[in-house]
Amino acid sequence: MSAPAEMLSVAEARAAILEQFTTLDSESVALLDALDRVLAEPVEADINLPPFANSSMDGYAVRAADLVGATRDRPVRLKVITDIAAGHPSDITLEPGTAARITTGAPMPLSADTVVPVEATDDPARGASSLRPEVSIFQEFKRGAFVRGPGEDVRRGQSVLEQGAHIRAPEVAMLAAVGRSRVKVVRRPRVALFATGDELVPPDQAPGAGQIRNVNEFGTAALVARYGGVPLPLGIARDSESLIREKFEAALAHKADLIVASAGVSVGARDLVKDVVRAHGAIAFWRIRMRPGKPLAFGHYAGTPFFGLPGNPVSAMLTFEQFVRPVLLKLGGRSRWDKPTVQVTLLESIMSDGRETYARAWVERDGAGYVARLSGGQGSNVLSGLTGANALVIVPDGVTRLEAGSQATAQMLNWPEDIF
Ligand code: AMP
Ligand code: MG
Repeated sequence: MSAPAEMLSVAEARAAILEQFTTLDSESVALLDALDRVLAEPVEADINLPPFANSSMDGYAVRAADLVGATRDRPVRLKVITDIAAGHPSDITLEPGTAARITTGAPMPLSADTVVPVEATDDPARGASSLRPEVSIFQEFKRGAFVRGPGEDVRRGQSVLEQGAHIRAPEVAMLAAVGRSRVKVVRRPRVALFATGDELVPPDQAPGAGQIRNVNEFGTAALVARYGGVPLPLGIARDSESLIREKFEAALAHKADLIVASAGVSVGARDLVKDVVRAHGAIAFWRIRMRPGKPLAFGHYAGTPFFGLPGNPVSAMLTFEQFVRPVLLKLGGRSRWDKPTVQVTLLESIMSDGRETYARAWVERDGAGYVARLSGGQGSNVLSGLTGANALVIVPDGVTRLEAGSQATAQMLNWPEDIF
């Protein structure tokens, strides 16, 4: 067994891995398919926003000069010459002493410079009422009040989104506003996934003697989808070099950007994945000062990057979170991939063997801060501890015990990735 100093820390391994990857190429997609992806082109406004001067209230378009001196006791009376609804521009010019009834979003008539909200008039404004010949206005308004000027939000030709922007709902809205029904985004990483092991059967089969269900392929495929990738599940390879090689070849045929296998990368007699990868590419087999999940294989098969995750399901999913997740985000064009963290007060003590430990925990608010308790068994095969967890409390490298009442950092598992 190598001395701890020869093992990589989680941060060292992550940095070495991330160095190998850059943002993928781009593709054009329909606007809604761009959600949660990264913009691969700068976007400019094709028109002014708003495109024309319009009313921000239901009321009366007027000339501000006509309102001078208006009060509730001595209202100004204006002649109502037309009715302008949103979507129906009028070419009427307001002469002094006249007003036009107007709805929110309707274009301002010529010579009108101000809108009086209906609440400041004698118009009872109950739904679709007929046009009254005159309107009384109870107060003065500053010239320009309740008018949205053309280009007030964004000017035509102005940059509205930069290349590399994370497209959230507001960015989708802006893209719609500037006429982009299709947009260039960074392609989703395609991730081939397979499981290895003679003991595995698919989830739709009842395990026979000595068998277990293939959990990892599904857990990791779900993580691929969650972090913006396209999962390409390839099923189970028995512990045979030729069958394992078939899975790698299938991954190449599927044009995978990344291959993620689980199990068979440790030091057991049937751990054949490493040999297959070595014969067709290169592999680094790392012992990482991380718990759970000490063994991690990383390399390439015929030029396609490869991760060999540990076989135990909790280890597989947590090493995925720490090492594969940042790669997916980087491939997808994101510039940040740190997991969101909070500071927590521990409600119970947590033990470690000195490797950086990711304890499965439940974190909740308590007054101004957060508290954490363990969510169940901490064995690397104990799935129920993971389904009951919403966070991973980190016991730092070199620390063997965190006491109840002490402070720790927790990675939040369910927080959205655009928390920053
Ligand atoms: P290995 O890395 O092959 O030594 O496997 C370590 C442990 O993980 C063993 O208990 C395996 O049975 C288990 N294991 C391996 N692959 C899977 C899988 N796909 N789903 C669930 N458990 C697995
Ligand atoms: Mg095995």
